[in-house]
Amino acid sequence: MADTPAKEAKISVKVIIDKVNRRVVYAEADHAFVDILFSFMTLPMGTIVRLLGKVADKRFEALGSLNNLYQSLKDFPECYLSTEECKFLLMNPRSLSFDHCTKLKLKLDDTEPLNYFKCATCSIDSFSQAFISTCNKAKCRGCGKLMNKEVGYKKPNVCVGGRGGVFVSDIATFIVTDDLRVMPYTSASSIRLLTDFGITDHSCLDDLKLDMGCEEIFHLLKMALSLNSAFTYLVFNRIIPIRDLVVPDQSSTLDQTALMKKEEVSATTKMRLEVSLQRSTGKLLFAEAKEDFVDFLFEFLSIPLGTVVGELLKGASSVTCMDNIFKSLSNMNVGRYIKSQDIKDMLLKPHIGQLFSSKNQVFPLEVIPSSPLRAQDLKDPRIDGGRLKQSGMFIVTDDLIITPSSSYATLNTLKDLKVSFDDIERCEISIGLIECVKILKASLKSRLILTDSLEHLLKK
Ligand SMILES: [Zn+2]
Repeated sequence: MADTPAKEAKISVKVIIDKVNRRVVYAEADHAFVDILFSFMTLPMGTIVRLLGKVADKRFEALGSLNNLYQSLKDFPECYLSTEECKFLLMNPRSLSFDHCTKLKLKLDDTEPLNYFKCATCSIDSFSQAFISTCNKAKCRGCGKLMNKEVGYKKPNVCVGGRGGVFVSDIATFIVTDDLRVMPYTSASSIRLLTDFGITDHSCLDDLKLDMGCEEIFHLLKMALSLNSAFTYLVFNRIIPIRDLVVPDQSSTLDQTALMKKEEVSATTKMRLEVSLQRSTGKLLFAEAKEDFVDFLFEFLSIPLGTVVGELLKGASSVTCMDNIFKSLSNMNVGRYIKSQDIKDMLLKPHIGQLFSSKNQVFPLEVIPSSPLRAQDLKDPRIDGGRLKQSGMFIVTDDLIITPSSSYATLNTLKDLKVSFDDIERCEISIGLIECVKILKASLKSRLILTDSLEHLLKK
């Protein structure tokens, strides 16, 4: 077992405060805190949803629709899944740097360490392939019994090497701005930040020491996903000007040309949705889709935040703090600040936190096994490459609540929406990579996911 850092561990950060305007100008932090900020990028979206559930402060929301997606997966009837272990694996994604993150001063991710199980009855030799599962709910392909016998497995010994933290060296102090840009401390950058705030002398400044444990970091993570002024909220407990709030940003441009090229490559991966609209208002009510779309949506939860912000949304996710952490990490010098190129590559490499990605995964992401065992030695939880069985249709609401379609579910959805039956119009649309990226982007902060991302297809 890994040595787990004591729960009481705290990280100290010094914040420089503008007393007059009651806001934080910047924070001064060491490698331990910067390690934590960079580790946000490694957390799969589903893990973030789970961790944010621990934050007591409910005055603002983060990841509204991804919460619904996560809950839908949790409640999803197992009979629609290809195998017994599919849900467990989707609920427990792990990024490439999962083992490294167990070495952080604060252990944020409470996902269980990887374990391996085999069938207690069948001998390994008779199943030279795919006889091991990372979940004790899997059923043996040979005899059908539960694969619940633990395989003696030595945990990889992660060596963080050298001095300092896990990702960042200890030779420097860092400045972290209120919107979470991270830079090595220099007096020039400190003075520039002060003058940017219109501060010309010492009289209105103060400093304060923040001791942050896991609870405070979860709070910070939630703020970083919702607000532009994370430290100010933490210190002054107030949300400052509306212009600082994250609002849907229509202008931030995704690299459409890069996406178009990928669109051509994956021209075959089109999914069909049957969309119900309110005739009188043109409002999108819900969509009905086959298992391919639902499988695709559920896999969002396995993608690390850094891959979402960086590779898929090209640093323009509109979640300012996260875009800033991603950019800071990408631009940071290796050797002097980031401990090695390998560490940087591991943090930034786009991937999915699953050994077996679904064939319905539309995004052009290379899946890299984060397991010391080869994928071919492990039992593949998919059937025909999918995590959902071929089955009927599913209802997907605008805010990503997913349920198997039935007349009961349809009537219930319409009742919740307060729409009369004779005011409904249906149309069929086909979506590809561009729409899928839009859905991903909208899911980070909107509650009208399908409306925001598919509207252009509905206009006749
Ligand atoms: Zn067996």
